[in-house]
Amino acid sequence: MNTPLNTSHGAARPLGILAALPQELGDLIDAMRAESGVRTVTHGQREYYVGTVHGTPCVVTLARVGKVAAAATASALIHEFDVEAIVFTGVAGGVGGDVHVGDIVVASTLMQHDIDASPLFPRFEVPLLGVSRFTADAALADRLAAACERFVAEEGAACAARFGTREPRVHRGLIVSGDQFVASATAVAALREALPDALAVEMEGAAIAQVCYEYGVPCAVVRTISDTADDHAPGSFMAFLTGIAGTYSNAILARFLGA
Ligand code: SAH
Repeated sequence: MNTPLNTSHGAARPLGILAALPQELGDLIDAMRAESGVRTVTHGQREYYVGTVHGTPCVVTLARVGKVAAAATASALIHEFDVEAIVFTGVAGGVGGDVHVGDIVVASTLMQHDIDASPLFPRFEVPLLGVSRFTADAALADRLAAACERFVAEEGAACAARFGTREPRVHRGLIVSGDQFVASATAVAALREALPDALAVEMEGAAIAQVCYEYGVPCAVVRTISDTADDHAPGSFMAFLTGIAGTYSNAILARFLGA
């Protein structure tokens, strides 16, 4: 077994904070730099930023896009940095009928919508693990949802006015992940039909949840809705990612970490 790169033996184990794309982290690394300074560790072609932010010892990193990238990064957070838990923050496509651009979804369960070893195993089940839906840690997800609710109560109306979106709402439920950017009316309709309780679709969450399940590490996922996974998704995703995602992430993480 490798020696963890985290040298803070005896101190609290850090929280792992993960996103796919830099815009999804907002100003988190700058905030860490200002608060505690940052130790940067390069491992497996990724940079891990170690320090304290909003009073919480953290290791912050970018997974890049897709399930393999997310799984590799989650595994490194666990084995090289000895994180106590992992929180993923990012954007997603809204799939649930009542989930709109600007809303927030906190996962209670996560599954891979593109895993299918049928007829050998039931569709959506991870072969030989016997699980199709991974459960987010209830306490962590509750804290994350409470932070989102506080953000919406305190800044939701101002955000909506500033960005021209609807007033955000917080949803909790199933997030589905796969190695596709879902961007057509046909594809999102097929997803809704196969998994009627799915609220959001993205490309990393269920992979992180599977790794965390296998190693017994608590995890939680929060996604702000950048698009509705239909033909408008590419434009809506880019506009939200570059203009809005960081503001949401900063506001949610400050309340979550500072609580
Ligand atoms: N490299 C590109 C592609 C990003 S893919 C870029 O930066 O422009 C989209 C990312 O946002 C993924 O990390 C995924 O988790 C999330 N996402 C947002 N909307 C999505 C959708 N409709 N389908 C799948 N993933 C989506």
